[in-house]
Amino acid sequence: MPKKGKIFVISGPSGAGKSTIVKELLKLAPDLVLSISATSRKPRAGEVDGKDYFFLTRSEFERKVKENYFIEWAEVHGNLYGTPKDFVNENLQNGRSVILEIDVQGALKVKETFEDAVLIFIEPPDFEELERRLKSRSTDDEETINLRLQNAIYEMALAKYYNYRIVNKDLKKTIEEIIKIIREEEKK
Ligand code: 5GP
Repeated sequence: MPKKGKIFVISGPSGAGKSTIVKELLKLAPDLVLSISATSRKPRAGEVDGKDYFFLTRSEFERKVKENYFIEWAEVHGNLYGTPKDFVNENLQNGRSVILEIDVQGALKVKETFEDAVLIFIEPPDFEELERRLKSRSTDDEETINLRLQNAIYEMALAKYYNYRIVNKDLKKTIEEIIKIIREEEKK
């Protein structure tokens, strides 16, 4: 384990399989810790406050922005999302690597503050597949799905700023690749 932990940012369009990847990754590498973001978005069915996100009202979120509570925050698909600062810093100090599952705007802001942060971009195998995955997620209405598809185009254009890009064709291989990257980067 390194003296000080490292930040690993995982981004990619909604529907690229990020959440599943992160969940499986934490099972296989339990020394890694996941940062839980705050959001002004309403919880989806089954989401739990403090586990999936810290759900805040927009005004609560804005107050925390003023209090300098976040490492980074961004507006994504019309909602606010941010990474709480203290949790990440405490874990890094304790030598633990922290996973942030955040959007491209947030990732680039993190890199400004933490130069050694490692940015990993997960790409869907193809755009039709992404559309299919988003549509099969019955929790989102059509307008939300279209917004997410638009955003996917924007996010893919910024993938070039990432340290690593992985096409998620096979979940198991993708996770193995990410763990390999993490272990190599932790040694640096
Ligand atoms: P969802 O609403 O589907 O949970 O997340 C929408 C997008 O917000 C995803 O791309 C997700 O990675 C991003 N996101 C989640 N938490 C954060 C955060 O703390 N900061 C930023 N910048 N983006 C986040």
